[in-house]
Amino acid sequence: MADTNLMSIPGQVDPVPVARDITPREDGRVDLIGLPKERIRELFEEAGLEPKQAKLRSKQVFHWLYHRGVTDFEAMTDIAKTMRPWLAERFVIGRPDVVEAQHSTDGTRKWLLKTADGHEFEMVFIPDADRGTLCVSSQVGCTLNCRFCHTGTMRLVRNLTPGEIVGQVMLARDALGEWPKGSMAGLDEAEDEGHYTSDGRLLTNIVMMGMGEPLYNFDNVKGALKLVMDGDGLALSKRRITLSTSGVVPAMERCGEEIGVNLAVSLHAVTKEIRDEIVPLNKKYGIEELLEACAAYPGASNARRITFEYVMLKDKNDSDEHARELVRLIKQYKLPAKVNLIPFNPWPGAPYECSTPERVKRFSDIVFEGGISAPVRTPRGRDIDAACGQLKTAAEKKSRAQRDREAAEAASA
Ligand code: SAH
Ligand code: SF4
Repeated sequence: MADTNLMSIPGQVDPVPVARDITPREDGRVDLIGLPKERIRELFEEAGLEPKQAKLRSKQVFHWLYHRGVTDFEAMTDIAKTMRPWLAERFVIGRPDVVEAQHSTDGTRKWLLKTADGHEFEMVFIPDADRGTLCVSSQVGCTLNCRFCHTGTMRLVRNLTPGEIVGQVMLARDALGEWPKGSMAGLDEAEDEGHYTSDGRLLTNIVMMGMGEPLYNFDNVKGALKLVMDGDGLALSKRRITLSTSGVVPAMERCGEEIGVNLAVSLHAVTKEIRDEIVPLNKKYGIEELLEACAAYPGASNARRITFEYVMLKDKNDSDEHARELVRLIKQYKLPAKVNLIPFNPWPGAPYECSTPERVKRFSDIVFEGGISAPVRTPRGRDIDAACGQLKTAAEKKSRAQRDREAAEAASA
């Protein structure tokens, strides 16, 4: 593994110099997943196609990749038979490798995935009656070390590439069987035209709430979400996508302007002292600055509210005063906001406990009485460690266990 894949300085924007565009595989072929259509056209031209041909072929290939979900050039029936091996010699259609797939008793599914260079990360699918939400990772690990979050304890951090990010959505569609069905040969026009809508679909929403801080991997997240939102791509509306940030203030405006998705902010505390402790990024970008950035978030309105996530930690941030202060702050900054109360999901060695159900209810009631919606998020997939903040790859858990054993041995020696 190259040293450039390691991250040791917390708090930097785009911390790891991962090649964002093309990284040829060991056999020299280039993965097309994650590249904009225009870039695919350029690559086809560079590989020797006439400009007109390159334009046409890139359009066709793009359609097969994102509307059909094919992973084999041979399946691209409107591309000449002789052309298909030419493509396959030079390009691949990748997916993240699946290391393990788990099913929770409540229907939640979690996948442990691996990048081509061996880094593990996770993705979670949460089915509900009226929607299906895919929780997508933006980084392997996270540099930010929020004290209640398991991902923050991972040692290795690497930005995921656009292909690895959009690849999660494609893999989920594979697993859910959501690509248009039927034999790929001899498709009729009507079937071929299909545009994605949410009707009858399992995967209807995406949240950038898996591993990592998406705004510390801005360009790659943007590239991936552009493909998700592109009408010729996965064609999911920006209104069905939510990006959660722990408060990377300088990137928030760009997020609204350049990506345009819904924003969720991991607030979690209303005083400097407590937020400094549980979300250390607060020392860099404080609550006032953060809320000002929320007030200025492009596209936020009463119809598209900003979600404030608030993890309920026993005797830490869950008093009546905290709830009242939360209401006051939201009103002071005139924020079109809703609050999402998240019962703390425990993990081995976590330094906090979850607030009691009565406390959570009382907190929620106070915020509601203040005129702000504050539902409690039902934890999902706890039995497979898929709930918020529980994500941490098996390899890391193992190495941690190994480390603990070593520490115990050293202590008893
Ligand atoms: N890094 C981004 C997005 C990923 S975390 C962020 O922090 O916003 C998704 C949400 O889960 C965040 O609100 C995060 O604070 C919350 N979370 C983290 N650990 C948690 C835990 N143990 N229990 C409940 N929620 C947790
Ligand atoms: Fe990173 Fe979000 Fe976890 Fe904080 S809560 S450590 S920002 S993933």
